[in-house]
Amino acid sequence: MAHIVIMGAGIGGMPAAYEMRELLEKEHSITVVNSTDYFQFVPSNPWIAVGWREREQITVPIAPYLERKGIKFIPKAVTAIDATANRLTLDGGDTLDYDYLVITTGPKLSFNEVPGAGPATSGGGGFTHSICSVDHAQEFFADYKKFLENPGPVVIGAMPGASCFGPAYSSPSSWTPTCASANCATRCQSPTSPASPTLATWDWAGWGTASPCWNPKCAAAT
Ligand SMILES: Cc1cc2nc3c(=O)[nH]c(=O)nc-3n(C[C@H](O)[C@H](O)[C@H](O)COP(=O)(O)OP(=O)(O)OC[C@H]3O[C@@H](n4cnc5c(N)ncnc54)[C@H](O)[C@@H]3O)c2cc1C
Repeated sequence: MAHIVIMGAGIGGMPAAYEMRELLEKEHSITVVNSTDYFQFVPSNPWIAVGWREREQITVPIAPYLERKGIKFIPKAVTAIDATANRLTLDGGDTLDYDYLVITTGPKLSFNEVPGAGPATSGGGGFTHSICSVDHAQEFFADYKKFLENPGPVVIGAMPGASCFGPAYSSPSSWTPTCASANCATRCQSPTSPASPTLATWDWAGWGTASPCWNPKCAAAT
């Protein structure tokens, strides 16, 4: 009988747990450990950032969805891996032994690589926003509402070393309709200079334009 531990209950870890449970004999146990007690659907963060979705619409509590499949869940961050002893240390000092370890902890954001970058609440310099987590996207939205009152040029980009450039391209497609519906389009400049016009065109005509607008000025403007 083996104990499999999955570190990280994100887009990789959750399906890994489900599929492993389905494939393995019942005598083997599976435990998922995650630093938060909720799952967040990261690709929807750009919608949180412009108010098209609420936090509750893109997050779910993890425990019930794992436990009903017979998968154990521990809502704690792993702080150390002792690979020789097959042992994890969890936030608070508890330990967890495993026979097999699956690591699906996603990216570690390194705002410190670019001085001044990143939300101050995540240890960054506070001079740029991020939509990499739902918390970041909510912080963004708070400032985005202020921005719409007095819009101006915006720079959207990805840091050197970033591996996920998609959001940098897709963000303009959610900004532009919101901004236009707030009747401020003439004061907003094109937020990016896309390296790939094809991708930008696709985004422009895609989900961005089809989504409802949170902005109270929207009704008056459309
Ligand atoms: C804004 C944005 C939009 C995106 N849009 C798309 C898209 O449209 N299509 C697409 O295919 N991809 C998209 N991506 C990329 C996609 O979201 C990622 O590739 C995906 O989330 C990676 O999955 P993951 O499970 O590896 O990591 P994550 O989904 O980040 O999950 C990692 C999990 O590990 C947990 N964790 C981290 N450290 C620890 C620790 N020490 N102990 C315990 N738990 C820990 C975290 O809390 C988290 O729950 C987007 C990314 C971003 C930022």
